[in-house]
Order: sequence, then C-alpha cells, then structure tokens
Amino acid sequence: AGGQDGEVQKAQQAAEARKEPGQRPPTIFSKIIDRTIRADILYEDDKCLAFRDVAPQAPVHFLVIPKRPIPRLSHAAAGDTELLGHLLVVASQTAKVEGLEDGYRVVINDGKQGAQSVYHLHLHVLGGRQMGWPPG
Ligand code: IMP
Repeated sequence: AGGQDGEVQKAQQAAEARKEPGQRPPTIFSKIIDRTIRADILYEDDKCLAFRDVAPQAPVHFLVIPKRPIPRLSHAAAGDTELLGHLLVVASQTAKVEGLEDGYRVVINDGKQGAQSVYHLHLHVLGGRQMGWPPG
C-alpha cells in the first residue's frame, strides 16, 4: 500500500484542496447544458448555448457559453481559437435577434480580480440601455 501511487494521489488531493471551491467543475452552467436546471435558452447548437442571465444588469442580459467547460478565459489555449470565435459570432447574432440594433456590451470576467463567479467560461451580452465607461 502507499508507495508511488499513494504519493501521486496525495499530491492530487493537495492540488485539489488549494483550488477555490468555485473553480471546481462542474458548475451550475453544466446543469443548464444538461437540462438538470431550467434556463431561458435563446440559442443552442452543438458547441454552445445562449441563455438569459438570472440576475439581469440591463434590459437585455444574456450569457453565451461553450458546451465544453473551459473554466475561464485565461485557461483557453490555441486549440480553442475557433470555439472562441464562434461564441462571439453567436453573441452578435443573438444580440440582433434580441433587437439590440443601437449597440451593446460584451464582457468576459476572468478570475478573482475580474470578478468571475461561475468558473465555466461565459460571455455576458448587455444591452437595451446606455452603458458607461470605465466599468466598475
Ligand atoms: P460572472 O460573475 O462573470 O462569473 O457571471 C456569472 C453570471 O451568471 C452572473 O451574472 C449570474 O447572475 C449568472 N448566473 C448564475 N447562475 C445562473 C443561472 O442559474 N441561470 C442564469 N444565470 C445565472
């Protein structure tokens, strides 16, 4: 018992314990993807999902998420280029369907200082009112 396997397991458990609770997948967004919890879904395809934010910060506020759970933008890699581009195109197309012809804001919060709260990458799309700058 123990030996090398035990050491590897101990190191993995220590690494897991160092993570903030919110950084461990699966998150609530996985449950929206698999329909365990309900959401107001605006768009879906095989790679992504767009749904209304449960606590809207503007008259129109929806999120676009990849189905593959990349925890945060800073974890994205070169192999994610096409997927990230797809999320932006879906954000733009869904904004159009939502009637945001006067413009809107797209936001990605990353990590602690970015005020990210759900560690499943998501684009916020906010519109229907005048935005200010700089953001808070
Ligand atoms: P973050 O702070 O950038 O991570 O944004 C997470 C967003 O997810 C917040 O705007 C929340 O209001 C939103 N959110 C959290 N849980 C749900 C949910 O169950 N349905 C829809 N939006 C959610």
